Amino acid sequence: MSAETVLVVEDEAEIADLIKFHLERDGFRVSVARSGRKALESVQVLEPALLLLDLMLPEIDGLEVCRRIRANNEHADLPILMLTAKGSESDIVAGLELGADDYMTKPFSPRVLLARVRALLRRNSAADSAGGRVLSLLGGRLQIDAVRHVVSVDGAPIELTITEFELLRHLALRPGFVRTRDQIIAAVHGANTILSSRTVDVHVTAVRRKLGPLTDAVETVRGVGYRFCEAPTV
Ligand code: CA
Repeated sequence: MSAETVLVVEDEAEIADLIKFHLERDGFRVSVARSGRKALESVQVLEPALLLLDLMLPEIDGLEVCRRIRANNEHADLPILMLTAKGSESDIVAGLELGADDYMTKPFSPRVLLARVRALLRRNSAADSAGGRVLSLLGGRLQIDAVRHVVSVDGAPIELTITEFELLRHLALRPGFVRTRDQIIAAVHGANTILSSRTVDVHVTAVRRKLGPLTDAVETVRGVGYRFCEAPTV
């Protein structure tokens, strides 16, 4: 059995040990790097399946590590889960825009940690294969047909503008993962529309209204952006 290697980048030994303990108990192989420089070396040598990256690091900080990893084509697909302090929304936004996939704020529960790690690894193995197909979400209640540009809720088609459609599809392609407003703008751009941060909010409001009973599926992440919720309370 080839356990997947998770590289944990964290200078605080206590936190690193705790993460290592829980991941190993769940069957992962774990390597710890205590600085940004070590992290960059280890990524080359270990070829980890996932990077758990604290942002506050000596020498080279986590954002810079993220930037350098994404600048290297070889590791463009390496899932990166950021660890951040509470109240560091601007770092979270910066990290997501530099290419990190997700984040967790400290302190976090082991259960959340494992769920996030598994979700990221799953997503990567699925390799965004939903590209041209019909996305079926929320137990089939929401269907997004990317080819025919049709969205239906509980079997009934709903009317979305092109911008609203692209926005919803962008979020729904990565359920559970937050997207910043700028990422949404970049993804929707090209659908013959010009978006700003404010207009993203307006379009989200419209999408929610049209989703009717599934309105809570598009969740606001305060200070960061929006995400498609896998299990909204509807
Ligand atoms: Ca730290």
